[in-house]
Amino acid sequence: MSRFDWIQKELKNLKESGLFNQIRTLNSPQGSWLEVDGRQVLNFCSNNYLGLANDARMVSAACEAAQRYGVGPAAVRSIAGTMDLHIKLEERMAAFKHVEAAITFQSGYCANLGTIQALVGKGDMIFSDELNHASIIDGCRLSGATIQRFEHCNPGHLELVIKENEGRYEKALIISDGVFSMDGDIAPLDKLCEIAKAHDILLLVDDAHGEGVLGEGGRGIVDHFGLHGQVDIEVGTFSKAFGVMGGVVAGSAVIIDWLRQRGRPFLFSSAMTPADVAACLAAVDILEESTQRVERLWANTDYFKQGMASIGFDIGNSQTPITPVILGEAPLAQQFSRELFEAGIFATSIGYPTVPKGRARIRVMISAAHSQADLDQGLEAFEKTAKKLGVI
Ligand code: PMP
Repeated sequence: MSRFDWIQKELKNLKESGLFNQIRTLNSPQGSWLEVDGRQVLNFCSNNYLGLANDARMVSAACEAAQRYGVGPAAVRSIAGTMDLHIKLEERMAAFKHVEAAITFQSGYCANLGTIQALVGKGDMIFSDELNHASIIDGCRLSGATIQRFEHCNPGHLELVIKENEGRYEKALIISDGVFSMDGDIAPLDKLCEIAKAHDILLLVDDAHGEGVLGEGGRGIVDHFGLHGQVDIEVGTFSKAFGVMGGVVAGSAVIIDWLRQRGRPFLFSSAMTPADVAACLAAVDILEESTQRVERLWANTDYFKQGMASIGFDIGNSQTPITPVILGEAPLAQQFSRELFEAGIFATSIGYPTVPKGRARIRVMISAAHSQADLDQGLEAFEKTAKKLGVI
């Protein structure tokens, strides 16, 4: 018996049930084509929605910032880590999102953790969509508030849960993903907003997959619904459509001021690096200059999804570029992914606990970087693999 026995047993279980993550290694920058484990493959699983992760302008902005400001912030934001670049990015993001103010964090994960904890605590209540992202779940748990889940994208159920809990909390917060990362469906934000107002409860939306994707020129889910000034807190990330790394919270000045005082990752973990901040600023420039990339992303999405549906795949209820190809059991999804890789397509499988048991899938991520030929090649490989494995 050793103290590691239980871990070895758990790892063996994961392998036997098809849930062990075989992590592949990239030897190239992000793009529609990648070198993965030494092979050239067509990429269908990154969050590089707009193809900005290796954009020449963004790379030079990062290099110039590193030359001028060095590579590390060497401090947390509240001690000596706030550079003029951080302030500039926060101002640009507030203007881009049409809100009073914005604050950056080191990642979307940190943004959720820091924001939720700063807004609610013991004695308070959180109403959370049952399919919210893990970073929201972790933020809710860390806050110490009581968590009440409501049925996925069901405002009627949210209303019911709020009524059942009337008088049982001091403050409350409604939280929902904007775009759900595993299914690609969009939260009914207009309805959530009405409910939040009617009950005088704060509303937070995680726009990680809406930023750069939804709304005019990628301004996000609040713009998509025309709800400017009505959603209290928008959490976002720079790691997806923006192609970099970092998190952002946008909203009213009073909330942002509070997060500068009480957002724990802001206070206790070092700031975003100058190179990352400068690259994010270049991404804002690019998004403000033209809507072309966002339009291309949607045209590619429509083309690919129509192709997949006509082949006969179950692609769920996605309303966005996230395209779940639902296969059922995890070992089948893993085998499908391996076969695709052999056919030159990189698309990873996703199983429990990221998605419910029996709903394992390949999650295809469409990008503006894909050419029509790329999409056709992908469709052909998916069809061949599905026939080989008897899926269709
Ligand atoms: N929220 C959602 C909905 C996400 O999908 C993710 C990324 N997987 C995050 C937050 C975290 O963002 P980041 O990668 O910047 O930490």
